Amino acid sequence: MKIFNTLTRKKEEFVPVEEGKVGMYVCGPTVYNYIHIGNARPMIVFDTVRRYLEYKGYDVNFVSNFTDVDDKIIAKAVEEGVDSSVISERFIEECKKDMEGLNVKPATKHPKATEEISGMIKMIKTLIEKDHAYAVDGTVYFKTRSFAEYGKLSKKNIDDLEAGHRNIKVRGEEGKQDPLDFVLWKPKKEGEPAWKSPWGEGRPGWHIECSEMSKKYIGNTIDIHAGGEDLIFPHHENEIAQSEACNDEPFAKYWMHNGFLNIDGEKMSKSAGNFFTVREISEKYPLQVIRFFMLSAHYRSPLNFSDTLVESAKNGLERILTAIDNVRDAVATNTGALTAEDEKNLEKVQELVNKYEAAMEDDFNTADAIAAIFELVKLANITVNKGSLEYAKQLLETLEKLCDILGIVTEREEELLDADVEALINERQAARKERNFARADEIRDQLAAQGIILKDTREGVKWTRA
Ligand code: AMP
Ligand code: ZN
Repeated sequence: MKIFNTLTRKKEEFVPVEEGKVGMYVCGPTVYNYIHIGNARPMIVFDTVRRYLEYKGYDVNFVSNFTDVDDKIIAKAVEEGVDSSVISERFIEECKKDMEGLNVKPATKHPKATEEISGMIKMIKTLIEKDHAYAVDGTVYFKTRSFAEYGKLSKKNIDDLEAGHRNIKVRGEEGKQDPLDFVLWKPKKEGEPAWKSPWGEGRPGWHIECSEMSKKYIGNTIDIHAGGEDLIFPHHENEIAQSEACNDEPFAKYWMHNGFLNIDGEKMSKSAGNFFTVREISEKYPLQVIRFFMLSAHYRSPLNFSDTLVESAKNGLERILTAIDNVRDAVATNTGALTAEDEKNLEKVQELVNKYEAAMEDDFNTADAIAAIFELVKLANITVNKGSLEYAKQLLETLEKLCDILGIVTEREEELLDADVEALINERQAARKERNFARADEIRDQLAAQGIILKDTREGVKWTRA
């Protein structure tokens, strides 16, 4: 299996630190709002990488954090007049709902920065002891020049960086010895969340969070570290400097970065305001379609978001699901064991499975993997009705397996039509009249499970879809 490693800018054969196991860390979102579909791209692509590694038999320890202390969270908390944990907890829950909708598996561990402060303090202490960091008036800085390999991931030259920084002075950072140094710990400002530390009350810098959480939940050397390409510099460069300076061991073997989701050729981002939240999009398209759309491009290529492209993904996905419906029907109606003709067709099926795997092994080329599924769909459509029961079963199993690696759900969701909802509401009213409250509650729960919310009003029962 080959992975394009940002560190070497080459496709390299994947060899994990420990045979049969993979430790994978993906930088997670800062939780101050609903995630947008740009944020969903790394979630979907690295969930797919994980699923493929699991399919190959690896035991994957998949860690992805929530950054739950940050200026933007604090600003939102001040705006609403609540504690910043109220904001972060709210949006962690909302993010988890979106991930579920996108069929992104929960991580083995989702650490929260605010619950890992003591480990970060320990790491910062070690960095000071090793003379890679220094404290000035409650702020701790990393001594960037003390790490000889600084710039190895982003391929930046430290002297060029220095020149770019020369005239930039950030307020509150006057104690910096070198403009290249970055913050590991910052002192408390009035009204902000803060933790006790040897340097006074304060909070950690963003980069140290990931160094600590990956160390704690995976180890000093992790197999795959991933995130969007905007994180290469400075975030991942700084993570490497901190972790390798602290642990004296290589930090990550393979660095994977996804390309941007663009809109009209520009990166979708909160700050530019050109974004759609996953929640908004879910009103227009099933989130499965969004997942399929994201995987229709290679993860390192930029991907433009447009209704035309999403519509085409929707049609493509429908073609696959319809073929699977047909194969399921065939499993219910076909009879008998494999015929010679089936055997020949199964050879073709195996060739397509090989093609799919070859695409995935080539740096997770999901676009080509999907092309192999389409070929399989074509073959299934032509052959399944003439085949035996055993053939239909094997075809179904293969299609389900290949879709599952991409996180595509092949079971169709039963969507309640408006008329069905009305009928159930009438039945509930009748049950209530008969004082059969158990049945009435059962119907309410059944509707709730399908996202239908009932409201008893003076004008009768009103309902909405959640
Ligand atoms: P943030 O909350 O901004 O730190 O972003 C969380 C994750 O989403 C990071 O891995 C980012 O690189 C990624 N990301 C943000 N915007 C985009 C985008 N437009 N396209 C692809 N990935 C993105
Ligand atoms: Zn990170």
